[in-house]
Amino acid sequence: MSSLPVADFDSACSTCPELVALHSQIQNGWPSSIKALDVTLAPYYKIRNELATLSDYVLRGSRLIAPLSVRPKLIALAHESHQGIVRTKQRLRDLYWWPKMDSQVQSAITSCLLCQSNDKTAHTNPAPLQPVPLPDGPWKKLGLDIVGPFDTAIPACRYVITLTDYYSKWPELAFSPSATTDDVIQFLSSVFSRHGNPENIVTDNGTQFTSVMFTSFLQNRGISHSRTSVYYPAANGAIERFHRALRTCIQTAIQQSKPWKATVLDWLQVYRATPHATTSLTPYELLYGRKMRTKLDVLPLPPAVSPLDDVARHSVQKYQLKMQRYTDGRRHARKPSFLPGESVRIRKPHYVPKGHPRFTPPVTVTKAKGSNAFLLSDGKIWNATHLARCCPVTEKNAYTARLHHTQIGLPTARRLPRVKYKPRWHKDYIVP
Ligand SMILES: [Zn+2]
Repeated sequence: MSSLPVADFDSACSTCPELVALHSQIQNGWPSSIKALDVTLAPYYKIRNELATLSDYVLRGSRLIAPLSVRPKLIALAHESHQGIVRTKQRLRDLYWWPKMDSQVQSAITSCLLCQSNDKTAHTNPAPLQPVPLPDGPWKKLGLDIVGPFDTAIPACRYVITLTDYYSKWPELAFSPSATTDDVIQFLSSVFSRHGNPENIVTDNGTQFTSVMFTSFLQNRGISHSRTSVYYPAANGAIERFHRALRTCIQTAIQQSKPWKATVLDWLQVYRATPHATTSLTPYELLYGRKMRTKLDVLPLPPAVSPLDDVARHSVQKYQLKMQRYTDGRRHARKPSFLPGESVRIRKPHYVPKGHPRFTPPVTVTKAKGSNAFLLSDGKIWNATHLARCCPVTEKNAYTARLHHTQIGLPTARRLPRVKYKPRWHKDYIVP
């Protein structure tokens, strides 16, 4: 499903009767009683103090009030990965608001055929208690696990190795044909190259995690290892819920005969951008400190200014200035300039087989064409980067060239070759 273009959203805003009426109501001020209000605006009366206008938009706090015509499309986009009712609502609520939004989401999902067949709407799974205390920052404590084997999958996707950050709930995963220590280490190395090493990893007692190789991999990186009790594998509710959602996503992909990997990756993006039930924030925000742009975002995101922004900005400016001076200096030094009458050779721009000359026989420069191109006696114009001077400029041919140059009335672009005088005291000596 494609996202909603800003232009469509804008035109929906300016033609939506409810939004236009609301917009002018806010501009003109609210009546002292709800009875004096048009019936379509009644649901907004209670929250009137939270409403504001911004050009044609109406906002409730930082959330946009969506115009009537785009509401179904927004619900469909929020439910695209067939997340459950709660998560779909959370995703929408993060960006939009309108009266009865929650019940509309609910009825849209309960009538979603795919969700019905997965029995998602029939009952809600009671979340196990989460006995794990929240770590004091992102990417310090991670849960590592194996999901699968999936029988119907193509061999390369038999297992899914997952890694979840206890703080941000940020999940990482990889498909794998097997679930050996090697597979796990390969996956972790790739993830750690991006996010760095955590302080602690929690696993169950699977053989992949009890091998000597795994222990020394963690030790090498200064990561401590905790094992959850065999008798209580569901110690971490958040990870269990993530796995359940992952299984549903894979089931859904199979039902729709969609490619697994692509579907799971799309779902993963949505998962990372959905506020998590326990933290009320999205994993992306907690890990990166800014909002993720997704299909649901119609308007550009506000600039997320990192506390380090000043440092980076200043450094980039300084670097760019330095590089500019450096390249300008080099360019000036290298800027090739050929005078009319000089002979040059053209470097063949196409592939030249080994043993064949890379340059043409000498051709004479007729005149300069623009700042960096020259018309040659063969009638063609060449960029200076393809031209090489035939022989070192001697005083004589520079002089004739200069003569030629002045005759055709071009400004003297090139410095004259330096004339070397012998020191005067040489007259008093015989120099061998
Ligand atoms: Zn659905």
